Amino acid sequence: MNAFQVCGYSQCGKTTLMKELISRFHADGERVASIKDIHFEDFRMDEPGKNTYIHMEAGADPVVARGIKETDFLYNHRMEFQDIVPRIAADWLMVEGFASFPLPKIVCGKTETDVDEFLDRRTFAISGIFAGGRDEYKSIPVFDVNDPDRMQELVKLTRQKVFPLLPYVDDGCCKLCGLTCGEMVEAIIQGEKSYSDCKIGSNSIHLKIGSRDVAMVPFVQNLLKSNVLAVVSEMHGWQPGQPVEVVIDAK
Ligand code: SF4
Repeated sequence: MNAFQVCGYSQCGKTTLMKELISRFHADGERVASIKDIHFEDFRMDEPGKNTYIHMEAGADPVVARGIKETDFLYNHRMEFQDIVPRIAADWLMVEGFASFPLPKIVCGKTETDVDEFLDRRTFAISGIFAGGRDEYKSIPVFDVNDPDRMQELVKLTRQKVFPLLPYVDDGCCKLCGLTCGEMVEAIIQGEKSYSDCKIGSNSIHLKIGSRDVAMVPFVQNLLKSNVLAVVSEMHGWQPGQPVEVVIDAK
């Protein structure tokens, strides 16, 4: 799943840009998921008095509301980005906010000062109210959401620049590439590295503990893979190339 974020202060054009990009990728037949980070302390999708609210107040977590037109999963706690991602299946994940999480980034702003606050080596484009009448700022391309041709160019640039989510292991836990995951994102956006330089991001074996993907160094990947395949390959009906899934109930 390819992922990027749209960052900037409120009322600077982030949601307008998100809507435009989601529409364009969706129109191209791709599955798009979005996450919006909300800092309003009293924010809730649900309302006191509704049946789902009563379920949640009684301790249900999650509560699922199935309607005629949508199905809503309501979790009764704030989640970290990496706990949200495994629950999503899509071709593209577009994130509004989460500015400190190291994803490739489009910066939105009203003024140069706004934009400067968010610019860094992860930024591959600039947009928002600031974009009117500009094509470039500090050598970064600028895209006006009101210009359909420029929006099409932004879609093309996003396809070129954005890559699948890295494992995002904690700083210092891996560094097999010589960088942290955040530094790797910067290096890829700057054209100094490519996604394949991540030593564990494009592996053929994945380990989950609970709902979270666990990054494994190549030695552990090979050990786990060869042991599982040694067992599975002895079984009737096994055909090389088939995906294998093992779930351990460790209770
Ligand atoms: S090898 Fe991949 S997972 Fe490990 S630090 Fe580098 S980018 Fe992150």
